[in-house]
Amino acid sequence: MKIQVDQNLCIGDGSCVMIAAKTFKLNPDGKCYILNEELGPEEKSADGMVKSPATETMDARDIILEAARACPVQALRLYEDDGTEIKV
Ligand code: SF4
Repeated sequence: MKIQVDQNLCIGDGSCVMIAAKTFKLNPDGKCYILNEELGPEEKSADGMVKSPATETMDARDIILEAARACPVQALRLYEDDGTEIKV
């Protein structure tokens, strides 16, 4: 599974962090980022989109799905490894 956060949409309410604390965290700007060892807390692409594959250190798939459903602004998008978007 691949995870994408649209930091332009994120309002930093922390719902995803409360549900999936091993996958998401808020950076100092109050924007969600993905807890991937390769991504630092300040990681932010030019277009505000942060992407990462799910890794073994992250939450289970169902937990990540629940976190995406809880986002009030639909800033979290999930994709299968083949690129198909997962409906949450
Ligand atoms: S639930 Fe959505 S709006 Fe809230 S911190 Fe996570 S990505 Fe941002």
